[in-house]
Amino acid sequence: MAVKYPYEYDPKKRKIAKIYTKTKIINGIFNSMLLPIVFFIVLLYSGFSVAISDFSHAFGGIFYVPLYVFIFLTLLTVVQLPLSFYSEFVYEHKYGLSNQNVFAWLKDFFKELALSYVISVPLLTGLYVLIGMTPLWYVYAAVLYIVITVFFDYIYPIVIFPIFYKTKPFENEKMRKRIFDILDKMGVKNIKRIDVACESEKSNKANACFAGIGGSKRVILFDTLVDGFTADEVETVVAHELGHYVHKDIMRFTVIESLKIIPVFLVIIAVFDRYSSVFGIGGVSDIAGLPLLLLVSSVIELVLMGPMMAYSRKREKAADIFALEATGKVDAQVSCEKRLSDMNLSDDSVHPLVEYFLFSHPCTKKRIEYTRKWEQENKD
Ligand SMILES: [Zn+2]
Repeated sequence: MAVKYPYEYDPKKRKIAKIYTKTKIINGIFNSMLLPIVFFIVLLYSGFSVAISDFSHAFGGIFYVPLYVFIFLTLLTVVQLPLSFYSEFVYEHKYGLSNQNVFAWLKDFFKELALSYVISVPLLTGLYVLIGMTPLWYVYAAVLYIVITVFFDYIYPIVIFPIFYKTKPFENEKMRKRIFDILDKMGVKNIKRIDVACESEKSNKANACFAGIGGSKRVILFDTLVDGFTADEVETVVAHELGHYVHKDIMRFTVIESLKIIPVFLVIIAVFDRYSSVFGIGGVSDIAGLPLLLLVSSVIELVLMGPMMAYSRKREKAADIFALEATGKVDAQVSCEKRLSDMNLSDDSVHPLVEYFLFSHPCTKKRIEYTRKWEQENKD
């Protein structure tokens, strides 16, 4: 299939992207941030959290914590379901981005739900066991966070990713060689595997990533990227992901998150000392206080969101510059940015405040600007 190159923006898609991005942002803020906060507050003030806790004690025996967490997660999922369905299915179809029928969407939805039970129930149960064991539980929680994250980083490409994606080895020999040449050039010897994930049966969006650690390390390319982009463009995307890998960005974020745990839990303890009796909760070790614990951490997350996103954009820019240094393919990188923006219907220049608080990546307009600036500064 011939791929048009260099890609230029489709003005129609630029217009649609503005509306699409805006609605997605509003939906995201409402469904993933505000709605859970309201849900936690309602559970606390209505006494419903205490009622679920009483029920769990009566019917769960020693398993009252996992039973509470199970009921809690189920209720939260039900509350979020209508808007999730609208945003991820109805809205995506409206803009021609989704290739899933309703059954395929539901299948993914239930897989995600099952996975959240499998992961969250034991983890939250473990947290409450830890709280009951030692007054310094939050220090252990911070250390355990790193261990658990590393474990999930390892199993992600082997166990979790394949639950949602059909994958196959990348067989395009010419392109494989180009990718391995880049890895070689940048001194990365221990990545041996490139997989292609079948995104096209789900959506028309393109992406790529590095996943795994140790023996599970690999490059994952979405088939939408492999089929819809030129070899040079794919190379710049892989080089960008390689930038994250070489800069150890996943580890940076894991350490930052783990450093946040101790102060966040100290705030949580202070809030419980003051307010838990208001809601009829025994203290931080009482499972009925889970909504209060999550409420406080959600509010802290909201407050820290701006600086965290700013740091993320800084890491993204560093990965872009790394890609330019690795490939020197300025035009391909610009073309690829434009093509990705149109394919994913992302607004290429949002209001600076929206970008500051909500965007993990710099807007495409800025990415192109600093790519061109790099070209100016590095002209031979
Ligand atoms: Zn990136």
